[in-house]
Amino acid sequence: CGIVGYVGPQSAQDTVIDGLRRLEYRGYDSAGVAVVHEGALSVEKRAGKLANLEKALGERPMPVAEVGIGHTRWATHGPPNDVNAHPHTGPGRRVALVHNGIIENFLDLRARLEADDHELLSDTDTEIVAQLLELQVQSGEDLTTAMQRVCQKLDGAFTLVAIDAEEPGKVVAARRNSPLVVGLGEGENFLGSDVAAFIEHTREALELGQDQIVVMTRDAVEVTDFWGRAVQARRFHVDWDL
Ligand code: GLU
Repeated sequence: CGIVGYVGPQSAQDTVIDGLRRLEYRGYDSAGVAVVHEGALSVEKRAGKLANLEKALGERPMPVAEVGIGHTRWATHGPPNDVNAHPHTGPGRRVALVHNGIIENFLDLRARLEADDHELLSDTDTEIVAQLLELQVQSGEDLTTAMQRVCQKLDGAFTLVAIDAEEPGKVVAARRNSPLVVGLGEGENFLGSDVAAFIEHTREALELGQDQIVVMTRDAVEVTDFWGRAVQARRFHVDWDL
């Protein structure tokens, strides 16, 4: 339902949680955050309000990190509980993924994963995509190429935002039939399902077009299509107040 991504010198956890709070108006049933620090993922997710997630983070603080993603969920596949909350990870806990929307061919994709003995923990369509991404990076691809390959296999509506423990400093996101905007900062960049996620930090933004992928580091934002060809995203200035 609500998506936030961050890379930069501020605390990723705090920046992501602030962004999620700005998106609360959309309504949600669960919330979660993932960060990458020193080659390892930390993931915390809870059913219920953001306060539940913040309580869990208070009891088990995450490392201070430069890269993070967060999500508020509006359940479509599986009940709202801690396991079904996003971010989802692959079996090796290398890739973490948040997702808005619905993967329409997920039953088919899940059947193929299960036939190969891949165990799934949740009821969500999202976890299938996390597993597929992790299989691709484990086969030696970088996260950007993995995202391209996986998006080519997906039907439906999705905004996907992923991080890879072995590629710190990078967030990769994609969209089809579901919105995604980039907030352009100085030495930091933001992602959101809408500009409310980052409007406190920057008003310079890029709107991703249909079937586009964005690769974001502290200093660069590159947009391509699902086949890796460079494309232009629409740049705009947010001149309204929230
Ligand atoms: N289909 C996903 C789920 O049920 C994402 C729902 C959403 O957009 O929040 O977990």
